[in-house]
Amino acid sequence: MYVGRFAPSPSGPLHAGSLVVALASYLDAKAAAGKWLVRIEDIDTPRISAGADQIILQQLTALGMGWDGDVWYQSQRLGHYQSAFDVLKAKSMVYPCVCTRREIADSVLALHGEFPDGERPYPGTCRDGIKPGRSTKSWRFRLPAAMVSFNDRWCGPQSQDVKHQVGDFVIRRADGIWAYQLAVVVDDADQGVTDIVRGQDLLTSTGRQHLLARALQIAPPSVMHVPLVVDDRGLKLSKQNGAPAIDTREPLKTLLSAWQHLALGELAVTTVEAFWREATTRWAGHFLLSRLAP
Ligand code: GLU
Repeated sequence: MYVGRFAPSPSGPLHAGSLVVALASYLDAKAAAGKWLVRIEDIDTPRISAGADQIILQQLTALGMGWDGDVWYQSQRLGHYQSAFDVLKAKSMVYPCVCTRREIADSVLALHGEFPDGERPYPGTCRDGIKPGRSTKSWRFRLPAAMVSFNDRWCGPQSQDVKHQVGDFVIRRADGIWAYQLAVVVDDADQGVTDIVRGQDLLTSTGRQHLLARALQIAPPSVMHVPLVVDDRGLKLSKQNGAPAIDTREPLKTLLSAWQHLALGELAVTTVEAFWREATTRWAGHFLLSRLAP
């Protein structure tokens, strides 16, 4: 049984980019005659905008995208993240880290020279113990050396060297907030999610999530990362970049423009009902087989 999900962060209303992700995950679930869940990822409290969750749910409803079961909120699941953390801690798979951002940047520079794109793999400074007299800031996942390989249903076969590309990553932040990487793995497992469809900005997170899942003895869901909508500067649309909320007064027009972004061919439809029927059939034709392929 297929279980998919859409997991928006309530930092603002849906915009053209988040709608494409919602549409793709919804169509994938419908094409597979599966369930489609909605989970509000409100764990990063400094980034949430009050009321955005309700607006997102209203926007989905206005476009005809109904979800199955209750909407989950990460803010109500903190005890579950703590339990997963305790499991990892009991297995010595996490360790405390005292490093500041500055210290990490300095040691990365000393080791490798400049990282032009700002990606700084954690050099493992606190892996074998913390300096005396310093207090714990964050907790990091002790990565195994293994490469992670998986097949992405949109992007094809992937291979990620998490240890070299990212390094031991934070699962409990210095401000005490559980990291997205941990929360998402725990929630997907607890909700029985079999298939993740989300934006390509999260493709590089998949390796991290596979390794965490493995450490928690969870089978990782299958993944599909769909193309992002970018602005004229090539930046991912986001509330921070001032992306406007989608217009739900003309649902068909809004749905068709999200569909067009996926470049799966024209849909000649004149009603919302016909849109959903045709788009689901078209999606199934393109992608259903890729679910069954190993
Ligand atoms: N909450 C994340 C976002 O809005 C998506 C997480 C996911 O789909 O794994 O970008």
